[in-house]
Amino acid sequence: MLNLEQEVGVWDSVLLEPLSEDTFIANLQQRFKRDHIYTYIGNVLVSVNPYKKLALYSTDLVETYVKRGPFQLPPHIYAIAGSAYRWLNDRNEDQCIVVTGESGSGKTEAARIVLQFLVLVSGDIVGVKLMKDRLVQANTLLEAFGNARTMKNDNASRFGKFLDIEFDYKGDPVGGHLTHYFLDKARVTSLSPGDRNFHIFYQLLAGADIHLLKCLKLQRNVEHYNILQTVNNQPTLTDDEDKKLFVYTKSALEVLGFSVEDIIDIFQVIAIVLKLGNLQFVPCNNIDGTEGCAISNEYELFEICELLGAEHRWLQRALTSRQIEDGILADLNAYEASKIRDILCKTLYSRLFTWLINKINEIIKGQRLGKRKVLGVLDLYGFEVFEKNSFEQLIINYCNEKLHQFITNVTLKEEQEEIIREGLEWAKIEYFNNIVICQLLEHESHGILSLLEESHVQSDSCYLNRVEQCCAGHSYCLAADATLPQYSFQIRHYAGTVTYNVHEFLEKNRDSLPKEISRAMFRFDHPLMKSLFPEGNPKRCTFKRPVSKSVQLRVSLNSLLKSLNSRQIHYIRCLKPNEMKQPRILEMALIQHQVRYLGLVPTVQIWRSGYCYRLAYPQFLCRYKMICGNTWPRWRGSPIEGVSVLLRSLPIPSAEFTFGRNKLFVRSPRTVFELEDFRRV
Ligand code: ATP
Ligand code: MG
Repeated sequence: MLNLEQEVGVWDSVLLEPLSEDTFIANLQQRFKRDHIYTYIGNVLVSVNPYKKLALYSTDLVETYVKRGPFQLPPHIYAIAGSAYRWLNDRNEDQCIVVTGESGSGKTEAARIVLQFLVLVSGDIVGVKLMKDRLVQANTLLEAFGNARTMKNDNASRFGKFLDIEFDYKGDPVGGHLTHYFLDKARVTSLSPGDRNFHIFYQLLAGADIHLLKCLKLQRNVEHYNILQTVNNQPTLTDDEDKKLFVYTKSALEVLGFSVEDIIDIFQVIAIVLKLGNLQFVPCNNIDGTEGCAISNEYELFEICELLGAEHRWLQRALTSRQIEDGILADLNAYEASKIRDILCKTLYSRLFTWLINKINEIIKGQRLGKRKVLGVLDLYGFEVFEKNSFEQLIINYCNEKLHQFITNVTLKEEQEEIIREGLEWAKIEYFNNIVICQLLEHESHGILSLLEESHVQSDSCYLNRVEQCCAGHSYCLAADATLPQYSFQIRHYAGTVTYNVHEFLEKNRDSLPKEISRAMFRFDHPLMKSLFPEGNPKRCTFKRPVSKSVQLRVSLNSLLKSLNSRQIHYIRCLKPNEMKQPRILEMALIQHQVRYLGLVPTVQIWRSGYCYRLAYPQFLCRYKMICGNTWPRWRGSPIEGVSVLLRSLPIPSAEFTFGRNKLFVRSPRTVFELEDFRRV
């Protein structure tokens, strides 16, 4: 249980004396040792993953934090969630809690705790309770289908998630919307050693009863399925946890209102992906001497087609041949056919995932009555670097660069610029601005991501050549260098150096599916297949080329950042204490690395010399004039004079306020909350 009176180190690093990187880290370490995993930098929360269950989360504590307000109690994620919730209700402004940190640092856990907090503090009338249940269950479902074990994290998010919760005027959740970013679907058919596929595959095999397994034509044995083996053919076993979690996943589907038929359809798609992944192709010679291939384990194909209620020849033909002209087919060789099989498995899974998200969005969509405010929780996948890094890591790390750029802009750059604009005293603070890396990636004509879109770039090696031509010599990119492994280039990201192997970059980015496959899938007598492959409908005469993955992501990230710009943001910065996923171990070098690249010490410096809150004089007067003693402030002249009169009547030291050209600046968050409390009295 949290000891409210006990103080270990300092709660807020802004109060550290003297301040240096060493004292900052020593304070985190001292607190971590005593299970105080949270520390403030002003109103930013730093959280160190404890890798063990702590008695820090309970209904009682939620109540305590709601009653006492933040900054009177030890740092806690409840305080951050509480501030966002308060601002949402009191100020009628949209809010967002942005959770950042590298893979395994605790972002998804933090997002879950925020959601639990919001559920506990809001009302419980029938409709609201149902909505809350659905929001919580949506989270459970997404983890089953969108998370997987990696070397970095046993529950690594393999998609980016932005959950917006809509609140009514009473502060009750009445709806929500989920946006997802780039699912790492490559893992459906290719796993690195130590990794597992998406949790749902193991959950289904471990948790389904005999009847369900039989109906899905599945075997319980994980070793039977190729896509559940790693590259060196080690099976990735299920455990008791999977069995338990399957019950939760199934119950989440039920609470969300998926029909029995929907649930069976979903599990059928999972079963089909498992069985498709088992199809083996063997070379065979055609009568005309050309090379073709045949499926050696046809029974799997028959079973798939039985599940889909269809004639097996359609799928067999789509997997082993390609239409070259209207009505003329050319045979694929065994290698080509196995590539098509893999593309189909990945497409099937990722389209199922998108379909699930769309369904959830329909289910949690609020009725658009009256004015709504939203509170969003952003939980992306963390920065990651493995021994082998591919297109997926480039995309994930690009997202992290963009988010880091956004945070740096808001918390460091714009803060300094405003202080200068307002004519306040200021000592320049040095920090690394990663805009140069963002530009290296997204520059319109020669950015590393933009080069993927060039029409004449038709192979991975041609792409690598372009990267070498355009980026070699860049201070943050190493290409065409003898020290690099073959087919690779290197980027010095804000959070570390990553070497990317370009193998399959183009294919993964284009993400196109042969139209024969779409047509075959659409022909099945299976409503879900028809909605997953709408382009396979023969009545559709045009076959549009899909927008590439990197372009899709850039468009959705830009719209996310635009939306964040119009909100009040609350930050949770998660740190990973060690690479072994072990409790009680804080590796100093690892923490130092994260503290540096996250720019945490400059953040403390800005807070020390800066201000946590500011408001233009007319708005300040408008909001707080009623707290001026028993009367309204009386003055003649400009709003700035009105604000001076108002402040003189308050029992708050004048050092807490600084007058800028257009705005009043408030030093500490505590004062802002005092002002708010005065308003309420
Ligand atoms: P990724 O970017 O890979 O998705 P992440 O930052 O979302 O990583 P989490 O999945 O939230 O990381 O955390 C990794 C693991 O650390 C969790 O599965 C859990 O075991 C542990 N963990 C994280 N935060 C806490 C916490 N507050 N209390 C106890 N354990 C925690
Ligand atoms: Mg996560």
